[in-house]
Amino acid sequence: MQQTLKTIFDIQKDQYQSTGKLAVQERIQYLKKLKICIQQQEFSIFEALAKDLRKSQFEAAVTEVYFIYSEIDFAIKNLRRWSRPLRAKATLSSIFSKNRIIYEPKGNCLIISPWNYPFQLTLGPLISAVAAGNTVMIKPSEYSIHTSDIIAKIVAAAFPPSLVYCALGDQDVSTTLLTFPFNHIFFTGSTQVGQIVMRAASAHLSSVTLELGGKSPVLIADNANLKKTAEKVAWGKLLNAGQTCIAPDYVLVHENQEQQFIDYFQAAVQDLFYTPTGDINTDSYAKIINSRHLSRLHGLVHDAKSLGAQIAWKGNGDSQDTLAPIILRDIPTESRIMQEEIFGPILPIVTYSTLDEALRLIQDRPKPLALYIFSDNSKTIDHILENTTSGGVCVNDVILHVSNPNLPFGGVNQSGMGSSHGYFGFKAFSHERSIMYQSRIAFSKFIYPPYTKKERLLKW
Ligand code: NAD
Repeated sequence: MQQTLKTIFDIQKDQYQSTGKLAVQERIQYLKKLKICIQQQEFSIFEALAKDLRKSQFEAAVTEVYFIYSEIDFAIKNLRRWSRPLRAKATLSSIFSKNRIIYEPKGNCLIISPWNYPFQLTLGPLISAVAAGNTVMIKPSEYSIHTSDIIAKIVAAAFPPSLVYCALGDQDVSTTLLTFPFNHIFFTGSTQVGQIVMRAASAHLSSVTLELGGKSPVLIADNANLKKTAEKVAWGKLLNAGQTCIAPDYVLVHENQEQQFIDYFQAAVQDLFYTPTGDINTDSYAKIINSRHLSRLHGLVHDAKSLGAQIAWKGNGDSQDTLAPIILRDIPTESRIMQEEIFGPILPIVTYSTLDEALRLIQDRPKPLALYIFSDNSKTIDHILENTTSGGVCVNDVILHVSNPNLPFGGVNQSGMGSSHGYFGFKAFSHERSIMYQSRIAFSKFIYPPYTKKERLLKW
């Protein structure tokens, strides 16, 4: 395996070095071809996502396949503008020079992706990498194997392996790939593996984009509309059964509103994810990816309960591959569920008595990937924004900030570094090369030696 992967890497390296950079028009042609190849496999992609995660066709279309079509269309529409050289002003020291910033491909890139949105999170970075003119090796997740197989087929149909190659396999494949001197590594996955990737990248000083996880809080100010908030949080928390990197992880609500929020949340869950006869609706509710993750989630609940947490509500519908929604309250901060990313349909409710207490709880934790603020008061919203940080923010909704390609998507420190989507994805895979064209009338000689005052006076 190692030999094959190294051979492909070398071929891609030669391709990049010998044939020069792909012209923008060629990149656009490849993106168009990629879209056609996806369209040809659309039904198989839906089938694969249903097998891997029990995603409904609607959810798979909105959050994975159509998301990718719009990323491709957005890149095709804007690529000429993004890749245009930028003018930069001269300053006094280079007064008559012409200055430009050009975007050139980083070169040979590696994309490693996770299983939770396996199609979107592999193809999204690929679109940016190809738009920026790179060669790419991809390693999708071994857990979402049906989707990974389709991705490999699509990639093989859309690109020559000298340009894009999909390597299937588990972490051994990533480990091998990470020994190669890639120019850029784009990793989406857990914070722990992100650290491994960054360490490996340091051996070759490859640049990295790390799209990691973390605990994204929902902060409900006491003037928010609780019913609407509960419905939005219920949808965002239970989308893909909570296996979403920007899923609301836990809720901070004023102590006087806790019970009312729980009641509204429970009603919204029943409405959105249960049938009128009270059964969990497996046409809309995804499964947990595998038994290891299911036991991890049971373990989180067990640990919290053993430390005194209470189950405020639990829906029915547990099975070998399904975990019904659970609301926890009275949770000790030292419990694992308040330390680790949950990544499942369990919602801890944490109460506060003053807004500043809630803010301190967020400030004392690693910087989250997303922060959700619910409030009707712009001063309260500004106060929360000024006193927190996070990769992104969505005010009075959840998740949806990810759908706007005009916004950079990414984390900060423990939740990641660098950004993806649209122009920001293009930039992640581009080197901003600065070029100064010196003028014939240049004053650079004035900074040449000699440097003593007397000698300078004599010379000039
Ligand atoms: P993971 O980190 O376990 O695996 C991600 C990829 O890394 C997989 O392809 C896997 O094969 C590979 N990998 C695993 N162990 C490795 C190792 N030791 N060395 C090299 N490669 C290794 O993540 P996951 O379980 O697939 O996905 C869930 C995590 O991803 C969650 O933490 C979630 O928050 C995060 N995530 C983040 C984003 C984002 O955009 N920020 C999006 C989706 C998921």
